[in-house]
This record gives sequence, C-alpha cells and structure tokens, in this order.
Amino acid sequence: MPCPCCGREMKAGILSGDGRSPVTWKQGEKKAGLMDAIVGSGTVTAARRTLTTFTIESWYCPDCKKMIFDTEVTR
Ligand SMILES: [Zn+2]
Repeated sequence: MPCPCCGREMKAGILSGDGRSPVTWKQGEKKAGLMDAIVGSGTVTAARRTLTTFTIESWYCPDCKKMIFDTEVTR
C-alpha cells in the first residue's frame, strides 16, 4: 500500500499489546513476541499502555511516521 502522505510503499505488520509491555509493531504477519518486548524494538511511542491483549493488522510508513489500519466503529 502506498503511503497517502509521501507515496512510498508502506510496511505491513502487526500492532500488538499485552497489557504489561509497551505497545509494539512488528513487520510481517506475526505479532511481536516476548524477546521483541524485552529488547524494546518496535515500541509504538504514540500508544499508551492498555489493560487488555490485542493485535491489529496495520501499515507503517517509517518516513512519515504514520500508521494505517482498516476498521469499523460499532456499538
Ligand atoms: Zn510516508
């Protein structure tokens, strides 16, 4: 997917959190594992910590520091 800001190709990955470690993003189809959390790579600085476990498929542009994901807001 091209970045809507700069037009460069975005990286596909998984945004995830476990309620204890900082929210992380990892390129590819698997969420960041325990070792990724320990070394702190892929920490999403914009995210506050959450109380629950979650994963979100998302696209990341390292040049613009933008992240995009598809969602609907339901009640
Ligand atoms: Zn961009």
